[in-house]
Amino acid sequence: MVSRGWRIAWRVLLGLGVLLLALAGWVAWQAHRRPSLAPYAAQQLPALPASAVAQVPVRMMFLGVATVLLDDGRTPILIDGFFTRPPLRRVVFGRIAPDPALIRQSLARAGITRLAAVITVHSHYDHAMDTPEVARQTGALVVGSASTANIARGWGLAEDRIRTVADGDELQFGDWRLTVIGSRHAPTAVTGGTIDAPLKPPVRAPQYAEGGSLSLLLRHGDHALLVQGSAGFVPGKLAGRRVAVVLLGIGALGQQSDAYLADYWRELVSGTGARRVVPIHWDDFTLPLAEPLQAAPALIDDVDHSMRWLLARGQADRVDVRLAPAWGWVDPFAGL
Ligand SMILES: [Zn+2]
Repeated sequence: MVSRGWRIAWRVLLGLGVLLLALAGWVAWQAHRRPSLAPYAAQQLPALPASAVAQVPVRMMFLGVATVLLDDGRTPILIDGFFTRPPLRRVVFGRIAPDPALIRQSLARAGITRLAAVITVHSHYDHAMDTPEVARQTGALVVGSASTANIARGWGLAEDRIRTVADGDELQFGDWRLTVIGSRHAPTAVTGGTIDAPLKPPVRAPQYAEGGSLSLLLRHGDHALLVQGSAGFVPGKLAGRRVAVVLLGIGALGQQSDAYLADYWRELVSGTGARRVVPIHWDDFTLPLAEPLQAAPALIDDVDHSMRWLLARGQADRVDVRLAPAWGWVDPFAGL
């Protein structure tokens, strides 16, 4: 005969088991549920036909997350350069490392043979992991925080190929003038931390600590654009900076309050007088860099919410909000 105590214990266990199963089911469902980007197709900047590319003085190519190629026909520069995009299972349970063959393929597909610089917005793996291998294959100088410098050292890049930068630094590459502005990362569970010694992959994903986040102000002749890789800001930090275009990181923005979104818009867009916003860092970077890119899963972000909010606010403020197609050249300043 089973005692009453055992019966209660059995029921509690059964209840817990059902709860755990339900939770696992919910997580699996959210991890695979991604909002459709179809509603925003009309907001996409048109890809330039091959015959028109050379006539555009400053052009860009979006390559997922915050990887963006900028070129004036003489001095190509790349933001981040993240191509390996390891699958979710490896990111969570395994160790990750750059994939030189995949990086070579990706660079070739983008038409990149040489780069003056690869400039990294912060040191999380989805920005900085491939940076030194991209530099190795293209001859680029690695430009980034002290943590990014340690990622480059860990990959064996020579010191004269690494330029550590901090708030206020100015660099020139051909006709590009770069101003580095200290910023903040979006508030997430992985925000913060530094990489204080050369990092030798394969390593666990969290070992790519943030290392401080940077805003990149890029000027070229009369053109000015700001690259904001992560949805964070330092209040007042961009006061007096004027740009036409902001490449606006929206990763994890969908999980913030509307008050946070309004502050972010005020600091990055209203405050800089930008007339166009190109959202970046909206794609699921655990999937390969194939077209069409898919939005980040509902488990970690609400891209739909961010896009609807940005489009409504853009309409109210007469700011043109446009996604950029992956792998295609666009004129970020067209029509401004
Ligand atoms: Zn990050």
